[in-house]
Amino acid sequence: MILVPPPLRLRLDRDALVANWRWLAAQSAPAVCGAAIKADGYGVGARAVMHHLAAAGCRDFFVATWGEAAALMPLPAGVSLSVLHGVAASDMVAARTLPVRPVLGSLAQVARWREAGEGRPCDVMVDTGMNRLGLRVEEATGGALDDLRVETLMSHLASADEDGDQNAVQLATFRAVREAVPARRYSLANSAGICLGRDFAFDLTRPGLALYGGTPRGEAQGHIRQVVFPETRVIQTRTVRSGETVGYGATWTALRDSRIAIANLGYADGYLRCHAGSGGAATWQGRALPLIGRVSMDLVAFDASDAGTVGESDWLCLDYDLPATAARSGLSQYELLTGLGSRFERMWA
Ligand SMILES: *Cc1c(COP(=O)(O)O)cnc(C)c1O
Repeated sequence: MILVPPPLRLRLDRDALVANWRWLAAQSAPAVCGAAIKADGYGVGARAVMHHLAAAGCRDFFVATWGEAAALMPLPAGVSLSVLHGVAASDMVAARTLPVRPVLGSLAQVARWREAGEGRPCDVMVDTGMNRLGLRVEEATGGALDDLRVETLMSHLASADEDGDQNAVQLATFRAVREAVPARRYSLANSAGICLGRDFAFDLTRPGLALYGGTPRGEAQGHIRQVVFPETRVIQTRTVRSGETVGYGATWTALRDSRIAIANLGYADGYLRCHAGSGGAATWQGRALPLIGRVSMDLVAFDASDAGTVGESDWLCLDYDLPATAARSGLSQYELLTGLGSRFERMWA
């Protein structure tokens, strides 16, 4: 085996992850606070996130698919895991084998679980206005769930990051469902829903984004810490003369003789072209290197003219504060996290 050093690295701050979860748990209390770790923990690594948060006391985790669930075996002691996409016919072997609950999201899934679930507990999603996954309210309250062992009955907020009327409507609808459908626990709020206040917390909350440093609403500002710090490496520096251009399409022209750092990152790593022209940048030893020109597939250029002696093999830290980066790039905080590719080595500190 030849050991090759990682081309890119994602520095991940475990203390910040745990602090974010604790803040969300305090906002949720007396409800219990879980963690959404689908899409490989929003791109940062589901297994590590699960273990760090389980050590801090988190007991309820959510993934999207059975493949994601299988990859997390064996679970830490006392941990519960649910699969948000429920069970297709082709999932039933995994669903009967793994110590994981499906979140049943349609009458077809309920029927399948009733027939082949061997009486095991399940979770159920009821749709209260998202119209994505979930039983309609009249289906859930019409007897379809009788005799099922429902551990968590949940619904999902469509507009929790906004202040329209839909949040109150979904809350009222979910309360009515809770009166009509027995379950051991009830759960409604994601990260933004937690910020809406304790009325939304019920027994269990399911934050994702805010765990990883996203700020879902103003209420979380100043409380959520950055977790993810992407770093790229300089391959070479070069001098570009005043008037010369850099990169595909010649979109950047040097206004003075400039020192340019070419780094080993590109849109194939999730660093998309929209970062250029919108204030994207990196830092090295506290000095700013503005992103210039067009982002290539696996190369990017920074203006290092004011960045001292930065040179080959130095690591540059990308500006990647999620709310600020989302605001300027037009990407969502979710896209900024989950797009980060496999060439980054995930390094927890
Ligand atoms: C992804 C997801 C969450 C977490 O949402 P965030 O907005 O990331 O906090 C919670 N519940 C369900 C059903 C989800 O799909």
